[in-house]
Amino acid sequence: MILEKFSLKGKSGIVTGAGSGIGKSFATSLVQAGAEVVIAGRNIGRLEATAREIRQFGGPVVPIQADVAKMEDIQNLVDRTVEEFGKIDFLFNNAGIIRRNPCEDFTEKDWDDVFTVNLKGAFFLSQAAARVMISQKRKGKIINTSSRIALQSGKALPAYGASKAGLTQLTKSMANDWAQYNILVNAIGPGYVRTEMTEPLYQDKEWSAEMTSRIPLGRWADPEDLAGAAVFLASDASDYITGQTIFVDGGWLSM
Ligand code: NAP
Repeated sequence: MILEKFSLKGKSGIVTGAGSGIGKSFATSLVQAGAEVVIAGRNIGRLEATAREIRQFGGPVVPIQADVAKMEDIQNLVDRTVEEFGKIDFLFNNAGIIRRNPCEDFTEKDWDDVFTVNLKGAFFLSQAAARVMISQKRKGKIINTSSRIALQSGKALPAYGASKAGLTQLTKSMANDWAQYNILVNAIGPGYVRTEMTEPLYQDKEWSAEMTSRIPLGRWADPEDLAGAAVFLASDASDYITGQTIFVDGGWLSM
């Protein structure tokens, strides 16, 4: 039956950047759909609080401290997930950072920081998780959090925009290489979502009103607006979709 294909009962995996915003919403919805989830990030106190909140919907929900900019943390995250659940069915590469500065002033440090978290971290965590899926001969789902900026760019965002565009290519590369193992790799591309990352922009009333007027659905997304796509892409209901980015942007890119 079709609704059973959307269930995540018996599936387990990882969500990075799950202590806040979009990642927290992903983890919550995955647990609500029946999954057991490791939630990862750098701030362990926040992850533990998030885990306590999400457990009311099911679980287990296991917080693990991991900085995706560090290769040793990446391997440890995968190893500990296998210790906890015995397997990995899905990985959400959601951790991301933004640095705003115009191209003429952008620093090497900001460039390296953004690329290390948004692109290098996503790649090597995917690689570590895929190696487990391949060795266990398990079907797998990898879902990257991209952005509508991957297609458009924006002002004062050279590294962020390029990293998200790179993530689109990386999504396709991994989808190609790992299709033979039945590991499907897709991305979710949010438009404007109200989170810690965007709160300063949201509070800029004039700027925010102008952006909102350009969104066909007439409002910013809440993190929960992304949850349906997350459950779908992690579930058996999307078993013939790979290499794609689903934009969840209120129609922004169709304008
Ligand atoms: P957020 O609340 O700031 O979430 C970012 C998360 O990433 C945090 O939980 C943070 O946790 C984690 N993180 C940052 N650096 C990390 C690292 N080195 N290792 C592990 N975790 C790290 O903002 P958000 O809007 O939910 O962002 C989530 C994703 O959505 C990002 O990839 C972002 O680029 C993307 N996105 C957001 C929007 C939007 O409008 N909000 C639009 C398009 C795409 P710790 O600080 O605890 O590590």
